[in-house]
Amino acid sequence: MSDNSPVQHFIRAVIESDLKEGKHRSVLTRFPPEPNGYLHIGHAKSICLNFGLALDYQGACNLRFDDTNPEKESDEYAQSIQDDVRWLGFQWNGEVRWASDYFQSLYDYAETLIDKGLAYVCDLTFEEMRAYRGTLTEAGRNSPYRERSPAESLDLFRRMKAGEFADGSRTLRAKIDMASPNINLRDPVIYRIKRAHHIRTGDQWCIYPMYDYTHCISDALEGITHSLCTLEFEDHRPLYDWVLDRLGTPCHPQQIEFSRLELHYTVTSKRKLLQLVNQGLVSGWDDPRMPTIHGMRRRGYTPAGIREFARRIGISKSENVVDMAVLESAIRDDLESAVPRVMAVLNPLKVVLTNYEQGVTASRSAGFHPNHPEFGERDVPIHREIWIEQDDFAETPPLGWQRLTPGGEVRLRYSYVIRCDEVVKGANGEVAELRCSIDHDTLGKNPAGRKVKGVIHWLSAAHALATEVRLYDRLFTDPEPDGHKDRDFLEFLNPVSLKTVQGWVEACVVAAASETRYQFERLGYFCTDRHDHQPGAKPVFNRTVGLKDSWAK
Ligand code: ATP
Ligand code: MG
Repeated sequence: MSDNSPVQHFIRAVIESDLKEGKHRSVLTRFPPEPNGYLHIGHAKSICLNFGLALDYQGACNLRFDDTNPEKESDEYAQSIQDDVRWLGFQWNGEVRWASDYFQSLYDYAETLIDKGLAYVCDLTFEEMRAYRGTLTEAGRNSPYRERSPAESLDLFRRMKAGEFADGSRTLRAKIDMASPNINLRDPVIYRIKRAHHIRTGDQWCIYPMYDYTHCISDALEGITHSLCTLEFEDHRPLYDWVLDRLGTPCHPQQIEFSRLELHYTVTSKRKLLQLVNQGLVSGWDDPRMPTIHGMRRRGYTPAGIREFARRIGISKSENVVDMAVLESAIRDDLESAVPRVMAVLNPLKVVLTNYEQGVTASRSAGFHPNHPEFGERDVPIHREIWIEQDDFAETPPLGWQRLTPGGEVRLRYSYVIRCDEVVKGANGEVAELRCSIDHDTLGKNPAGRKVKGVIHWLSAAHALATEVRLYDRLFTDPEPDGHKDRDFLEFLNPVSLKTVQGWVEACVVAAASETRYQFERLGYFCTDRHDHQPGAKPVFNRTVGLKDSWAK
């Protein structure tokens, strides 16, 4: 189960052989998010991989923002990403790094490529460039500007930087091979003109380097040993290597690809998650239904549970579409022995204990966890009126029913056996109240001469605390909401993914801080809401996960 030992995989094998053969003396990885949204569970996989390897091999992992796309990036996103990495339990090496820290070096390297005749300024528009690029089956054609002299390109590139030309009117392109079967090598653009305010460099630059060009050089400048990325970058690796080889950088990191994580019943694309936020379909990036790290945190998922999930799914190059049940069981397994247990009633039915008698009927003290006496105890008070769950009572029970039924008996958890003597109906024939009697000879012992198998949770109505509880269901009704060609993923939104109920909980949670987790016995794991819960006020709980797998249907 969760023995926390690392699972062997092909990237670890590469690292171990590199260390053994002396190719590297230590490991330096990096996690390179673009600050254009909040991180999701897929990023958590990448974080656990990169930071986890650094820990396992006594190396280090840099946090580097890939901030080359100024229109989409913001400080809020950059801040949230740092919060997420720390919350997951990792610490990056030294200061946070930014690709924009290297804008000057990247620019200088571009001049070097031009000098060497390996890059040229191209005047084709983006549409023309696309037409010249060719297709998967057809070679591209050389740009008419390809044979420009290095001197002319250098002059134009400097004037691009100086702001002499309109956005999109010129680009700097690497001069590789327009006939390459790999389209990424057909003279890729490495700089574009874009007048956009940048979160860190402001209006200092009106040209921005492209991702592929930026990424390999940033890795090399930081001395990264292993540059781990998802499989869609496999076809970009020849470009990664081309740039570093041609520039002769002192360090040439090894790019290694692994498969992206996809989770059933949700989407892991920042663009789609942004759409949910912008259209108000969720309450924000940290809505507990979102697969974002902020959302999972607010829902009550634990860092250890998420790390354990990452360990269980492993690292490979084969498709990594995972069932939500795998994530939930990792969370559940972590919470099982980590959090105190209390009772709550979410769908209350009133029970009157007709033979309750002050002084005769005793309250009891109960431990917060059966295996952890160090969690302490609290008093579980009993009184004449109690709440039980509506579905713990059935007038006409199915076969094998062990809960309450007219004339039947059940044990109140930590308390007495009671018998249902009378069902009181409301105006519409609904069950309004039960009248039950206590067997006073059953506190802490079995009833004489008969077996009572059922045990239900309950609360003293006079002592319980009113609480708001938010019950979450899957956000989408389809396992692959974005996997349908002719249908928009939003068509599969689950209209009832959030249900808010007013219930009751033991008074001992009254002082709980926000983000406090409990097991509500027989109901699941719950966590006080980060934003809406205030200690001392009416508690607000989010259901983190049920006690059993509810995904298998
Ligand atoms: P999205 O497609 O959601 O916008 P992205 O890959 O563009 O994600 P980045 O900020 O560039 O987002 O990602 C940072 C790192 O996280 C990259 O190294 C990327 O490979 C990795 N990553 C992103 N999504 C996943 C995923 N689903 N599974 C594993 N790793 C991922
Ligand atoms: Mg990306």
